Order: sequence, then structure tokens, then C-alpha cells
Amino acid sequence: MKTDVLIIGSGCSGLYCALQLPADKKITIITKSDLESSDSFLAQGGMCMLKEDADYDSYFEDTLKAGHYENDKKSVDIMIRSSKDVVKDLLNYGVDFQRDENGELAYTREGAHSTKRILFHEDITGKEITSHILAQAKKCPNITLIEHTTMLDIVCKENVCYGAVIRKEDGTLDTVEADFTVFATGGVGGLYRHSTNFRHLTGDALAISMHHHIKLKDIDYVQIHPTTFYSEKPEDRSFLISESVRGEGAKLYDKNMKRFVNELLPRDLLTEAIFAQMEKDGTDFVWEDLRPIPIDELKSHFPNIVKHCEEMGYDVTKECIPVVPAQHYFMGGIKVNHKSRTSMKQLYAVGETACNGVHGRNRLASNSLLESLVFAKRAAKDIILNYPLVKKDPQIFETINLNDYTNPELLAESYKKQVLKKMKKQREKTRLHDEAGKKHKKQK
Ligand SMILES: Cc1cc2nc3c(=O)[nH]c(=O)nc-3n(C[C@H](O)[C@H](O)[C@H](O)COP(=O)(O)OP(=O)(O)OC[C@H]3O[C@@H](n4cnc5c(N)ncnc54)[C@H](O)[C@@H]3O)c2cc1C
Repeated sequence: MKTDVLIIGSGCSGLYCALQLPADKKITIITKSDLESSDSFLAQGGMCMLKEDADYDSYFEDTLKAGHYENDKKSVDIMIRSSKDVVKDLLNYGVDFQRDENGELAYTREGAHSTKRILFHEDITGKEITSHILAQAKKCPNITLIEHTTMLDIVCKENVCYGAVIRKEDGTLDTVEADFTVFATGGVGGLYRHSTNFRHLTGDALAISMHHHIKLKDIDYVQIHPTTFYSEKPEDRSFLISESVRGEGAKLYDKNMKRFVNELLPRDLLTEAIFAQMEKDGTDFVWEDLRPIPIDELKSHFPNIVKHCEEMGYDVTKECIPVVPAQHYFMGGIKVNHKSRTSMKQLYAVGETACNGVHGRNRLASNSLLESLVFAKRAAKDIILNYPLVKKDPQIFETINLNDYTNPELLAESYKKQVLKKMKKQREKTRLHDEAGKKHKKQK
């Protein structure tokens, strides 16, 4: 198969990147699953926007504070300043963000934000955004969307990427020759037993990058969401009780129904506090009380949470629900620059699989959809600029031996193991580095 640009992944970052590329370029988007099965469809809370210039400093500081000041400041600046432009595109695609009584965009607040600056659509913001981007992509004759097709490897030589090896829906193997390749493969939740992510998001692009010596960054920086619905049944995916619920007033209680923590702490600190409380109480969960939120608001702003809890046997207007932390977001990833270029030529990475340093050590709530879109657009712009310099090497495809990929299950298993091993190693390095830092501080 031949294409101009190959995009691996049909979440918001892959689709939006495709829409920013010129109509005379043939773009192929492949996805491991169906088009709706991406984490982008699951985002509940919302998407940040710089609503007025006066909020810039506070938004910047909130992002850095949540990220433990390990953020790449230029990335943060780019993300914040580009937010209005991205929102303008989304509104043009027909995305229906909540409006106030004057018809102006309405904003909500989540943990660790010092003010309301988050756009939302009920509690299904990701679905609202991504379904409109997807509909737009389907209208473009130059964009081909291929479901149930998995990238198994990239095709590269001397640090230049020329496309990928794929497994198609019918199980046959093929190569895709492309001028540019974009990884938009999402997070790593599928590597964990408890995660809010789709199970098929297993960090494949990370394993492939490791194989080809493409640089990675902060791959031990994984965010655990403090509040997912606790169920005794072994569920595939943990259901998220959005941060905005706490932003709107929900409280957390220990086993004696006593508050034990500030519910608006950044996610990592809140997660630590919940785990500590569970250990102290000898429980598998803590309680979350949504009753401080007025019933009308609860039902209009969070209908899906209300419905899910109801299905699980809980009436949130009358009783508390059990919640527990679960893996949620991947701050680290394939190292990219501010234009989303990886360390390999003609290869880009966007969305959750990429790491431009915007989130530092911990992501501020509702920054990830925005970051995914902003840096996907930047990747597209850079691809356009670099088109005249593109290198081609059709002969390389004659050297690919597809027999090397005939056992995709085994390959997937080995990819998972390699990524987990690398993450563990990096976690240990970070731990030693943190301990050395603490000792140094004490000595001072
Ligand atoms: C429950 C939940 C709630 C969230 N809420 C919010 C929120 O309120 N606000 C916010 O900003 N963020 C939120 N997030 C995070 C946000 O949704 C994601 O970070 C973002 O959508 C990632 O987009 P993406 O395009 O990078 O990846 P995804 O949308 O996950 O898409 C990844 C794509 O890659 C494909 N893929 C993976 N591997 C391969 C392969 N080997 N071959 C082919 N295709 C492959 C997948 O099939 C999929 O199409 C939430 C996440 C979850 C899970």
C-alpha cells in the first residue's frame, strides 16, 4: 500500500492532524480497533481554554504546579496560547460546548485549577469533540480510514522512517509506504490491570521506538486517577468519576463517613492520600458523596455518571458511592520537539503517546485533549513545511521479510513486556534521583 502521510491511531490527535494536512495529500489513518474505540471518546470532564488574557499567568502556574515544575515551559506557553485557535476550529466543525444564559461559552472547574476555565459538553466532552472531528475527516475524499488494522513495526533505515508494517482486519500482513508517518497511538492503560483506558492501548509505539533507538522521555510518569467507581466484579475498564464532580462540590469520606482530605488537591497527591486512607482503614475503596451538588445540576452536568452509578445499584442523589484510584494517563512518551518531531526523520508523534514535556510530572486536569490537538496541528504544519525535503527509498520495502511478523500475539506480548520493563527501570532511576535530591536539600 502507498500513501503520502500514514497516521497510526484515530483518536482526536490523529484525526485532527489529518484535517490540518493539504487536500492534495493522500492520508491514511489506521486504527487497531473500530473508529469510536479510542480514549478520546471517553474524556468526560472537558477541555481547557485561555478564556481571557488576564487568566494566562494563573493557567500557566496551575499547569506548572500540577506538573511539579518539571514541565517544558515553552510547550506550556504554546498550548495555552494556541487554545483559542483550536476551539475556533472545533466550533467550526459543529462542536456544541455548554453555553451560559447569554449564549457565551460556559466554563467549569476541576481539581488544581484556580478558576473556571474548562469547556464541556455534559460529561461526554471527548465524544462531542471527537465525533465531530471524525465526521469532518469522513467528509474528506483524501482521507482513508481503516479499522481493525494494527501497526506491527515501522520501516526505517539510517534514522529515516519510510512507513510501517501492518496487520489487516483479515489477518494478512502488508507494508505501507509513506512520506511521513505519525504515531497517534494513545496511552498505555492496557498494560495495567486497573485502568480507565481502552484495553487495546498498550503503548505499541513505545516498544517499536525502543527497537529502533527513537528517543523516549519520562516513561515512568504515569497518572493514576484518584476516583474511579469501585466494583468487586473484575471489569475490563474502570469507570471514571470525573474530577469536575469534586470541582462542583463532591466530598470524599473514610470508612467512618468522615472527610479526610482536600478534594481539590492535584491528582497525584489526592491519590496518595486515598491509598493511605484505604491502608489505614483496611478497605478497598473510600466513599464519594455527590449530594453536595444540587440535584438539577448533577443530572444535567453529569448524566452519564448518574446513569452508570444507577446501573451499579447506587442512587447518587441519596447515597455515597465507593471509589478507588486506577491508572489513567501517561505523561511520558516518545520524545518530541515543539513541532512534534521525534528523534527519527519523517516520523512524528502526537497525543498521549508523545512527550513534549507539557505536563511535567503530573497532568493538570483537562489539559490533555487540548495538548493533543494543539501539537497535532503543529505536526501537520511541520510536515507541510518539510515536504520539499522528503526522502524516498522504495527499495527498502523489498528487503522487508513479512515472515518476521507472522505471530502478532507473541509480538504484542513481547512489546508489552519490553515497555513494562523499561518503565520499571526508569521508575527506579527516578526514585534514586529523588532520594539524592532530598538528601542534598537536607545537607544544605
Ligand atoms: C476515561 C477517560 C476520561 C478522560 N477525560 C479527559 C478530560 O476530561 N479532559 C482531557 O483533556 N482529557 C481526558 N482524558 C485523556 C484524553 O482523553 C486522552 O489523553 C486523549 O484523548 C488522547 O488522545 P490520542 O489521540 O492521543 O489517543 P486515543 O484517543 O486513545 O487514540 C489512540 C488510537 O491509537 C490506536 N492505536 C493504538 N495502538 C495502535 C497500533 N499498534 N496500530 C494501530 N492503531 C493503534 C487506537 O486504536 C486509537 O485509535 C480522559 C481519558 C480517559 C481514559
